[in-house]
Amino acid sequence: MKKIILTGDRPTGCLHIGHYVGSLKNRLILQNQGDYDDFFIMIADAQALTDNASNPKKIRDSILNVAIDYLSIGIDPSKVHIFIQSEIKELTELTFYYLNLVTVSRLQRNPTVKQEIKLRGFEESIPVGFLTYPVSQAADITAFKANIIPVGVDQLPMIEQTREIVRSFNRTYGEVLVEPEEVLPENEVCFRLPGLDGNAKMSKSLGNCIYLSDSYEQLKTKVMGMYTDPLHLKVEDPGHTANNPVFTYLDAFACDEDFKKYYPEFKNLDELKKAYEHGGIGDVKIKKFLFEILNNFLEPIRENRKYYEEHLDEVYEILKEGTMYASTLAQKTLTEVKNAMKLNYFDNKQLLEEFKK
Ligand code: ATP
Ligand code: MG
Repeated sequence: MKKIILTGDRPTGCLHIGHYVGSLKNRLILQNQGDYDDFFIMIADAQALTDNASNPKKIRDSILNVAIDYLSIGIDPSKVHIFIQSEIKELTELTFYYLNLVTVSRLQRNPTVKQEIKLRGFEESIPVGFLTYPVSQAADITAFKANIIPVGVDQLPMIEQTREIVRSFNRTYGEVLVEPEEVLPENEVCFRLPGLDGNAKMSKSLGNCIYLSDSYEQLKTKVMGMYTDPLHLKVEDPGHTANNPVFTYLDAFACDEDFKKYYPEFKNLDELKKAYEHGGIGDVKIKKFLFEILNNFLEPIRENRKYYEEHLDEVYEILKEGTMYASTLAQKTLTEVKNAMKLNYFDNKQLLEEFKK
């Protein structure tokens, strides 16, 4: 079976380090392993509109920022097709047919959507588009027959919903669609990176993010102002490392090499955690260490970003080419889907022959 990778992001702002550890890092690993037949990254503008209907400018303004984020971290457009969702009209058509295969109660049970509804204050009146976005996500995935989906853990219910739609479709109309499998980060703390404020998820919509495009100063202000252990009042007090986002970020980003470079009193994170839990290590010191590590990580990304900001025409062409390529494939799948559903009348005159029989 072909190996098709597809994943994407909503253009609701710039990408953050939660995206990096949750999904972008795996995309880079997969890209560099090169063991695939096709690789797509989708900028999900239509999905972003499902909870931003009155703010199309925010979506439009984020398109190039997200594309530049991809390129700056090392996504290589000669290996990966980057495309814009709304430009592929077949995705909307597929969604319309898949909606018949899903019940309202099934959509209401989706735990990620449930949480997002609460967060956005949609309990009283949910936009239909928002409730059904997992179905449109199934269209995005199946249009390319993608079977490898590198995502953060909040996306698991969407992948499950897609598998259900694929099974239902294939059972009802014949084997056309392919079931996807998620690829989660190796390191469990990266499944869902918490926000700067200690919130369970770093998310553009919550404004608690370290962006891949943050400057040295922005990063410093954010890290030094981070939520830590509220019980660790004095340096000598014992500290807690669990549910302490500073330590979660260290879990996600620090390696033994960083200790040699920036914190030679300790050999590794386990040693530092033990010392912090024992008491005697101030939060400022830990935050400064985290800042050094993150700044070192972001520095080359910032450099690359500068290049692409000065070569916007290149970015524009990459998006155009990726979108044209994706469009051709989606057309092919839609034709197969419609044939399976017997929604093809004018390819030949078979409809007339059937009527005469
Ligand atoms: P929004 O708030 O607009 O939904 P978001 O920050 O949740 O934005 P998405 O575009 O919805 O970002 O998610 C894109 C990808 O990044 C998904 O695969 C998602 O699982 C992953 N992701 C997003 N936030 C995190 C996080 N905090 N930790 C790990 N992965 C994440
Ligand atoms: Mg999201």
